[in-house]
Amino acid sequence: MKPSAFVYRRPAGIEEALELLRQHPDDARVIAGGQSLVPAMNLRMATPGMLVDLAGVKELSALELDGAGRLVAGAMVAHNRFLRDERVKSGWPAIGLAVRHVAHEQIRNRGTIGGSLCHADPAAEWAAVCLLLDAEMSLAGPQGARSVAADDFVRGVYETALKPGEILSRIRFPAPLGRWRWGFHEIARRRGDFALAGALVGLNVDENDVVQAGRLVVFAVEDRARRLDAALSTLIGRGIADIDTELIGLSAAASVDPRSDMHASADQRCHLVHSCVTHALAGAGVRPAGSDPSTPTWSNQ
Ligand SMILES: Cc1cc2nc3c(=O)[nH]c(=O)nc-3n(C[C@H](O)[C@H](O)[C@H](O)COP(=O)(O)OP(=O)(O)OC[C@H]3O[C@@H](n4cnc5c(N)ncnc54)[C@H](O)[C@@H]3O)c2cc1C
Repeated sequence: MKPSAFVYRRPAGIEEALELLRQHPDDARVIAGGQSLVPAMNLRMATPGMLVDLAGVKELSALELDGAGRLVAGAMVAHNRFLRDERVKSGWPAIGLAVRHVAHEQIRNRGTIGGSLCHADPAAEWAAVCLLLDAEMSLAGPQGARSVAADDFVRGVYETALKPGEILSRIRFPAPLGRWRWGFHEIARRRGDFALAGALVGLNVDENDVVQAGRLVVFAVEDRARRLDAALSTLIGRGIADIDTELIGLSAAASVDPRSDMHASADQRCHLVHSCVTHALAGAGVRPAGSDPSTPTWSNQ
């Protein structure tokens, strides 16, 4: 399978990239790692007349901390760079828990955070991570720069807040304050496949492991990842060894409106949400009320 003919451009800066998009509004398309776009081109589901390769735009490849202690990732940072970065491992461990499940090693070497977010597959781990961590997206466009909260960026299946001619430039992750416990679980047919359902949980705990606040994201279930923090409300003020995980799993499953597709029915996805949420809680160290503390909790971290 071969793509239709296209012109290739490799700008050296964002302004040059934006200018190419401005000059060719109907047929220019940004390419990042090419791991989603190239298969779509080979299947002729995408037929851009021009590819604007962002690989030469150095400022989009930076992964750094800003003055406020936030992690600032250029859109072109590859998935695997996050997994190897010590600052990410210690400050934002939820990223590693989820992103190691993105596809396979080779794809994680090429595919980028920006490409994943702009592609907006409902089963993408990155959109879920960004929601969980309250990330903020910086967009560059013909009208200048603007910021969009993670919850407003992905709008639906393959739909984002990007306007014509805009580029996602950076993603900012605030530093989680206080003590956090994180858990992740997804279910896919084979390791590396897109998930059929997944859950990410973050529990803010005090020095006695009493839960102060909780965040829960479910993904690969509806048209986009969604925060379901309300399902964790019964945890607040409870010790993590005294929690009815079954109840929380059922509450999360009752809160979603899953889609049916060739991979799983809506009913199956409800069941998978329950399973993913209870296992993600176990990954965060939560023990079902009355369980034996000498029995290790199960998780796929
Ligand atoms: C076999 C296989 C399995 C996979 N499994 C998973 C998985 O389990 N989980 C998962 O999350 N992903 C999975 N992926 C997708 C992978 O994560 C891709 O890396 C990702 O979806 C796209 O990233 P990319 O950098 O390759 O973007 P590209 O393919 O280059 O681009 C994707 C889209 O985003 C646009 N775009 C890219 N960057 C920008 C930007 N900065 N600004 C504006 N628009 C932009 C492009 O125009 C294009 O429309 C899989 C892919 C394959 C081939």
